[in-house]
Parts: sequence; C-alpha cells; structure tokens
Amino acid sequence: MSDCIFCKIAKKEIPADIVFENKDLVVFEDIKPSAPAHYLIVPKEHIQSIAHLEGNHRDILADLIYAAKDEAKKAGLKGYKLVFNVGREGGQMVDHLHLHLLGGWKNNGDIDHKRIPL
Ligand code: 5GP
Ligand code: ZN
Repeated sequence: MSDCIFCKIAKKEIPADIVFENKDLVVFEDIKPSAPAHYLIVPKEHIQSIAHLEGNHRDILADLIYAAKDEAKKAGLKGYKLVFNVGREGGQMVDHLHLHLLGGWKNNGDIDHKRIPL
C-alpha cells in the first residue's frame, strides 16, 4: 500500500521512534500518546484490520501479542492494556492493523480504567 502511513514507517520512508523490529513487525511510540507509555505494534504486511484477517495470519497475530508482552516487560510496565480498534465505528483511524500497548500509570487510583479515550 503505497500511501499507507504505517507501511511507510515500516519501510523507514518516514520517521518514527522505533523501539523494536524483526522481519515481520515493528514497534514504535505513538505520536499522540493516550497513556504515559503508548506503543503501536504493527505487522510489516499490510493488513487493513482485524476484520480483514485471513487464515494465514494466525502466526503474525500471535507475534503481535508476544511482541507487546516483551515490550511491556522492557518498559517496566507492571500492568497494561492491549487494544485493537476495528473500523471507523470502532475508532480505527489508520487502516493498517495495529495493536495499541498502553500503560505507565503509577497506580490503579490514577485513572478510571473504564474510561480510556482510545
Ligand atoms: P487508531 O485510531 O487507528 O486505532 O490508532 C492510530 C494511532 O496511530 C493513533 O493513536 C495515532 O496517534 C497514531 N499515529 C497516527 N499517525 C502516526 C504517525 O505518523 N506516527 C506515529 N508514531 N503514530 C501515529
Ligand atoms: Zn499499510
């Protein structure tokens, strides 16, 4: 997808604060964080959303979750949220599959966990 912003980040055509990368995925900081720590875990393959997954995407989907777990540990996050927005009605604005990793709140009393704007 030539005009997809996350494809361009994955190909280093536009800059991002990349914290991890392997042959299948890239992890970078969200440009407009919704939490003290906010990372996006993004497959290099252009898949539009969870609604567009096909049978051969099982491995990459598992890889996204394991990469999120590893990044959370590296960042010292004790608790965190993992979020997929799906479609405009689900709040998805970038049409390239991505998993949000959100955390870094100091303690449970800092935030109403049922009211995260994402
Ligand atoms: P969505 O609403 O699609 O689930 O989430 C898209 C996320 O990508 C948003 O949190 C937004 O701040 C982030 N984002 C959009 N454009 C860029 C960009 O160019 N660079 C980075 N690092 N994040 C972006
Ligand atoms: Zn893309």
